[in-house]
Amino acid sequence: MSILPIRLFGDPVLTTPATEVIDFDRQLRKLVKDLTQTMQDAPGAGLAAPQIGVSLRVFVWDVDEELGHLVNPSLDLSDDMQEGEEGCLSFPELRYNTPRSMRVVAKGFNMYGDPVTVEGSELLARAIQHETDHLNGIVFIDRLSDENRRLAMAEIRKSDWFINAQSSGQNIQMKISPHKNSHLRK
Ligand code: ZN
Repeated sequence: MSILPIRLFGDPVLTTPATEVIDFDRQLRKLVKDLTQTMQDAPGAGLAAPQIGVSLRVFVWDVDEELGHLVNPSLDLSDDMQEGEEGCLSFPELRYNTPRSMRVVAKGFNMYGDPVTVEGSELLARAIQHETDHLNGIVFIDRLSDENRRLAMAEIRKSDWFINAQSSGQNIQMKISPHKNSHLRK
């Protein structure tokens, strides 16, 4: 297991839709373990594979002291919504009120390829929606109200981590992803 560097906003991998997992092999199980360890080290409530530079449809969470992971998720969202602050390990220190569905039923697979269904509400539902967005190249600031998104972008431009990434010549992509939920299927 390894703790891996977390990609920050501006890295194109975060706005690229991730690819479906086909091989449920040792490499996938190592990916789940690396994601879990990196998330716990941060610490954070969730982490998606693109955040460590791996463009595959896998994420992990740590909510209410329960660890979980999901591969190739598809979500069924409730119509009733919740409000609450949300953050992201790819946006250090940024927290904004982000509307999400109150409940979610997520279908997918575990790292051994067994089909699993995860039902969650409140924080778990929020985490699963946030991480599934990452797999579609969507980041949480895409979900903010127009006003909060403007505030968030202004805060990002002033953030040390963002200024450092720019001055180190990293390939910065400021474009906010469009709200497309379609993803690559091969
Ligand atoms: Zn995130």
